[in-house]
Amino acid sequence: MNLCVIGSGYVGLTAAAALASRGHRVVCVDKDAHKVRSLRQGAVPFYEPGVQEYVARGLRTGSLRFTTELAHGVADADLVFITVGTPADDDGRADLTAVDQVVEGLIEHGPPPKIVVVKSTVPVGTGDGLESRLRRRTGLTWHVVSNPEFLREGSALTDYLHPDRIVIGAASPDAGERVRQLYADFHRPILMVDRRTAELIKYVANGFLAVRISLINEISDFCEQVGVDVREISEGIGLDHRIGPHFLRAGLGYGGSCFPKDVAALISQFREHGARPRILRAAQRVNAKRRRRFLQLVRESVPQLEGATVAVWGLSFKPDTDDLRHAPSLDIVPALQEKGARVRVYDPAVGAAAAEVFPGVYVAASPIDAAVGASAVLVLTEWSEFRHVDLAHVKQVMARPVVIDGRRMFSPDEVHKSGLEYRAPGRGGLPRPAPFPSRAHAPSYPQRSD
Ligand code: NAD
Repeated sequence: MNLCVIGSGYVGLTAAAALASRGHRVVCVDKDAHKVRSLRQGAVPFYEPGVQEYVARGLRTGSLRFTTELAHGVADADLVFITVGTPADDDGRADLTAVDQVVEGLIEHGPPPKIVVVKSTVPVGTGDGLESRLRRRTGLTWHVVSNPEFLREGSALTDYLHPDRIVIGAASPDAGERVRQLYADFHRPILMVDRRTAELIKYVANGFLAVRISLINEISDFCEQVGVDVREISEGIGLDHRIGPHFLRAGLGYGGSCFPKDVAALISQFREHGARPRILRAAQRVNAKRRRRFLQLVRESVPQLEGATVAVWGLSFKPDTDDLRHAPSLDIVPALQEKGARVRVYDPAVGAAAAEVFPGVYVAASPIDAAVGASAVLVLTEWSEFRHVDLAHVKQVMARPVVIDGRRMFSPDEVHKSGLEYRAPGRGGLPRPAPFPSRAHAPSYPQRSD
């Protein structure tokens, strides 16, 4: 098919490069002229495994092109994808300015009516409004199909090509079928639903996962009070097939470009319809406290932050991406600096750009370099590279050998073996309370070695 993808960010560029690799001819439109110039040279402006190679291949074969001209991009397209950003506005609502700009552009440039596939995350009912606007203003029969995207940054290409499911929401069966054909050779489950359902599935998926993360974090705080390690709780419940092991890692809470804004937007949609988002609000509140809670743990370990050196391992909101949107580091690094700490940061993907985002930090060349002279190493992102660091070497270069693991990526045993002290949310941040009086009658459990 001839495809036009409007918006060359994490979702748009990944989708475009993946679809070009499947034999489609794809034109990407982006309003950012600098980005388009770079992409024409094959330079991908963000770190996402595999995307650079797919873009290079698409450029080489001519199946992938880039332009700032909407009219040029949509002229011959069978399907037009909208993949522009939908950030939260000040009230938490999804800001649809970019989507509106694209739709106004389509109206203005007047190509023959098209099937418009909305991959951007938009509130329930948005597609209805876009379709009637396009039809009313052009007098032509446009179709708007919702096809929300579930890819995760860090594994965007793999997720796009091998999704758990593909959701297609259309008012017109013919338009829905045309989009379904695009994915026929993906051999993945395809759910055909109505447009509003498709739009809502996306928000509910992220809302559900956010609630799960906040629940395990709330339990993590309780674990500290009763002297239990939340990691063992996660393992113990995660093996239950009704629960499953994912999204049960307690720590710094959720961040990134999607969860915070999508939870906020879902809450605002509830409110607009007079519904009460009690559990979603609770999840949001619990999440908002995670970073402060972590800083409390840091202060317990390094009471005198003024003049102390602190190493930060990981800046991006999750591993395998350089995306800093709503990353915990954005709050934690300045808070440390405010207390007078000297901060040495290391992130495998953010690299030298860290100096611009975090003025005053020392940008280290390696995890060991970051740890030099530090009174604590704070793990803010669970990059797999950190698992291979020689912890004994880390201990040698530090001023005080303390690791504070905000992501629960290390086993306490392995850290202790290297002579380092291990602190982490959900495990003994506070002194253990006296045993319950009934303890003597309770069954005895194996003791943990850590
Ligand atoms: P992004 O900010 O990385 O990219 C958006 C791109 O759109 C930018 O390149 C921007 O220049 C371009 N753009 C903005 N307005 C434009 C216009 N009028 N015309 C042409 N181009 C325009 O955003 P993203 O992370 O790719 O997210 C896009 C959408 O996908 C959002 O709705 C997001 O919620 C959703 N989503 C994101 C992810 C993710 O992991 N990032 C996953 C699933 C869904």
